[in-house]
Amino acid sequence: MRAASAVADLTAWRAEARTLLAAGVAPTDVMWTVPGATGLLFGDAPGAPLASAAAEPQTRVPANFIKLAERAVLHRDSSTHDVLYRVLWRIAHGEPRLTDDAADPDVRTLTVRARQVREDIHRMHAFVRFRLVTADDGGEHYIAWHRADHHIVEAASSFFVDRFAAMRWSILTPDRSVHWNLRELAFTPGVPRSAAPQDDALEELWRTYYASTFNPARANPKLHARHVPARYRAAMPESAIIPSLLAAATPRVGAMLEDAAPYVPVTRSLTVLREAARGCTGCELCGPATQTVFGEGPADARLVLVGEQPGDQEDRLGRPFVGPAGRVLDAALADVGIDRTTVYLTNAVKHFRFLPRGQTRLHQRPTADQIRACRPWVGAELRAIRPQVVVCLGATAAQSLVSSRFRITVDRGRVLQTHWAEHLLATHHPAAILRVDPELAPQYEAELRTDLIAAMALLRPPASV
Ligand code: URA
Repeated sequence: MRAASAVADLTAWRAEARTLLAAGVAPTDVMWTVPGATGLLFGDAPGAPLASAAAEPQTRVPANFIKLAERAVLHRDSSTHDVLYRVLWRIAHGEPRLTDDAADPDVRTLTVRARQVREDIHRMHAFVRFRLVTADDGGEHYIAWHRADHHIVEAASSFFVDRFAAMRWSILTPDRSVHWNLRELAFTPGVPRSAAPQDDALEELWRTYYASTFNPARANPKLHARHVPARYRAAMPESAIIPSLLAAATPRVGAMLEDAAPYVPVTRSLTVLREAARGCTGCELCGPATQTVFGEGPADARLVLVGEQPGDQEDRLGRPFVGPAGRVLDAALADVGIDRTTVYLTNAVKHFRFLPRGQTRLHQRPTADQIRACRPWVGAELRAIRPQVVVCLGATAAQSLVSSRFRITVDRGRVLQTHWAEHLLATHHPAAILRVDPELAPQYEAELRTDLIAAMALLRPPASV
């Protein structure tokens, strides 16, 4: 019998499983055990087998197995590791399409557990409530306590970074705690509920927030009671105001948009993100557009350029900046000595927004709601790449990544510190050069080049080997 650690982390499980598979160890000969210390559950130190795994030959598995495993591995029932390995073993031993068989008992178990984990992540996103405390340095720190059913703290955290990037916050849970210091996430061991502040200073703020985001078209008090477990409901300040919001709701019905967050997998793989983005229906722009236009460029790019949204040609070809604005950008990049292939190019909004006019499609600026709805994608790209410098091409990108009040006329060229990158600055959109009064075009062209040169100067030289 071989012992293996049932670590709630896909990378660690894969490494362990790959080693076992390469050694021909059958599922019945493996005992998956949860490592003793809570902190180990998340793969901090699973030990020697992982170190040797990289050298083992790899088994090709279907993408839907990885998708299932990514969530199921976070399930609190550690027999999941056993089931995952059994499925992997069967895939490698003559059943390559096993995960297409929804009726198979192992596949069904994984499907149910993956769904339970997804729902738990959703609950954490929906039910965490922060309290304000004064930190040791006198600054504001927001703290929440939450009890998750599964090992989801890491998987659920990027959502809070996107929503509360400008606050210092911590979410404490019995298994694992997560902290955001405006630049990066840190994880520490879990704590009991008594460690979280009980004071209710933020309740009013939560009520206001809830009232402004409340969507009566999706509200169903009976469902609410069924889906918000009582253990969360009592602690939720908004519970008291839901009846009055429902009563006053009629004028707001239909005004709310969904967003892309539920479609964004928790991963730093651009390939996985790009694949998932194909199926995004997080806002209404996905309907008329031909396809999602995801970013392109090296995963380790030091410089990321973020545009507004794909244009007509980008929408048809599925690549960013390949139309007229792309040609203006290419000329500027060439003039300042930036090789386009070394840069990651993407857009704040991933679908083309247009007005059909006969045979042509007229470009339309995305609305603030559409920019907000698509931000989880550009956020995931930046988290995957961790560039040194981000250049926002035009106001839409800066409104997505900095502030909805950002104006190019006021803030162009200002170097900002943000959590997206060490430095961020915004400049003219290349298309603005095509649209602006011809007398101003040379000035815009020069300023675009000046800002690109400034961005290059902010890059650290590549590390030498
Ligand atoms: N404009 C943009 O902002 N992005 C593109 O990809 C093309 C035009």
